[in-house]
Amino acid sequence: MTLQTEVDKRRTFAIISHPDAGKTTITEQLLLYSGAIRQAGTVKGKKSGKFAKSDWMEIEQKRGISVTSSVMQVDYDGHQINIVDTPGHEDFSEDTYRTLMAVDAAVMVIDTAKGIEPQTKKLFQVCAMRGIPIFTFMNKLDRDGREAIDLVGELEEVLGIDAYPMNWPMGMGKNLLGLYDIHNKRIELNLSEESEDDSIVSVDDDGQALGDHDFKESTIYSQALEEVELLSEAGNDFDAEAIASGQLTPVFFGSALTGFGVQTFLDAFVDFSPAPGPVETRDPERVVDPLEEKLTGFIFKIQANMDPRHRDRIAFVRICSGSFEEGMEVNVERTNKKIRLNNTTRFMADSRENVKAAVAGDIIGLYDTGNFQIGDTIYSGKEAVSFKALPQFTPELFMKVSPKNVMKQKSFHKGMEQLVQEGAIQLYKTWHTEEYILGAVGQLQFEVFQARLLNEYNSEVTMEAMGRKMARWIKEDDLDPKMSSSRNLLCKDRFGQPVFLFENQFALNWFAGKYPDVTLDSLLETE
Ligand code: GDP
Repeated sequence: MTLQTEVDKRRTFAIISHPDAGKTTITEQLLLYSGAIRQAGTVKGKKSGKFAKSDWMEIEQKRGISVTSSVMQVDYDGHQINIVDTPGHEDFSEDTYRTLMAVDAAVMVIDTAKGIEPQTKKLFQVCAMRGIPIFTFMNKLDRDGREAIDLVGELEEVLGIDAYPMNWPMGMGKNLLGLYDIHNKRIELNLSEESEDDSIVSVDDDGQALGDHDFKESTIYSQALEEVELLSEAGNDFDAEAIASGQLTPVFFGSALTGFGVQTFLDAFVDFSPAPGPVETRDPERVVDPLEEKLTGFIFKIQANMDPRHRDRIAFVRICSGSFEEGMEVNVERTNKKIRLNNTTRFMADSRENVKAAVAGDIIGLYDTGNFQIGDTIYSGKEAVSFKALPQFTPELFMKVSPKNVMKQKSFHKGMEQLVQEGAIQLYKTWHTEEYILGAVGQLQFEVFQARLLNEYNSEVTMEAMGRKMARWIKEDDLDPKMSSSRNLLCKDRFGQPVFLFENQFALNWFAGKYPDVTLDSLLETE
């Protein structure tokens, strides 16, 4: 098979959602449809220990959660799908955001009873920043939830993205008659499992069901039809290009639990989501085409201590071009070091296996003995390639940190430096006194940091919670150290850039009012 055919088959995406919206359940459905698992409940087993292979730290085992953003590769309808998991709950971390740098599309799962929740919004914003296509799945239609029209309106109002309903619910909960499939011009009936009727019904030009079906008496049906007409007059038009550029989200309704509407969603997803595309580089600026012969890729995540007996780490690489073959040699752009890729891992639904071949869009795990950092570019051949740096995400939680034993300063500093470089956590110092402050987007990052510092560097630390803060960078020219107060603590980040940690929105507004000419940046694009 040619490289082109291989790449065109790839669909690499992440599911973004608030905890409990149904991400695991829909992932499981996808695995079922692709034949990767035979029984629902397999993925859920993650929480009961079936996924013991990825349980790499005590914390993880104790909490029964996965620190890993695991990657699953499955075949669906002639496509090779790579699902990159984004951890939720307490294990939400910078890795979750960075994972979104390695995908070509996102599936946004929303609980129809709840609408848009905080974590969905944060993850959405990161996807929107990249302009990747976002497919919305309105889940739990088998239960009573909010009105469809409200939910779609909320996408536009809260997230600021145009929406195009691909299908429309006819009732919900116990009264769920089915879906009016606007895109495919048909009706999908919500039949009971025992029913032997065909669930797909064609419609005539007026949207009336054909065949033996007569829904004229059904108010649910007529109401749905009315809403669909209203949408076609007042709503957005279908526009595949706007979908591809992330300006329009196609919206699907369904139930991940019963599987209703899932296949319709998946079919449209593989049709309209993009195959891997070109990736921009810096210095020199150009784009790397996925069909270029030489292998290129970047590291978006490093996971340490997968196996506690060895200090091995796995560097997750998103391949951007060429084809990977076991045993090939690549260069690490940052260090100019040559490395032979012998021991690589691909992640399957319930196992890991050695990768023999992979192309653009695929994600492989490289065993790392300290050669890689997050954001590193690797490439084969002579001509150096350097992909644009990953953005640094704004931490929200902060801790003061110091070594417990002052005699062990050296191991403390070494561990700190390495873990910060690896991207496990953000480091700040107070501007004048140079006290260490750690920043994270999720609480678990602190715990992992503390445990790793102890296990890997034999350094015990004292941590003092500072709570939630709002970090805003300012230009050095604008800085007057007198601006610092207890409500907006002046620090420097690890590149020496000044950053204020604001106590709350009020403190931030107050500062902005007092210094109207000072620009405050919430996201720092490194380099
Ligand atoms: P995650 O935290 O986003 O991975 O959510 P899960 O997939 O674990 O689902 C959270 C809970 O919602 C579980 O109890 C699921 O069984 C339930 N759930 C998921 N999808 C549906 C659905 O379509 N309908 C109903 N009624 N429950 C669902």
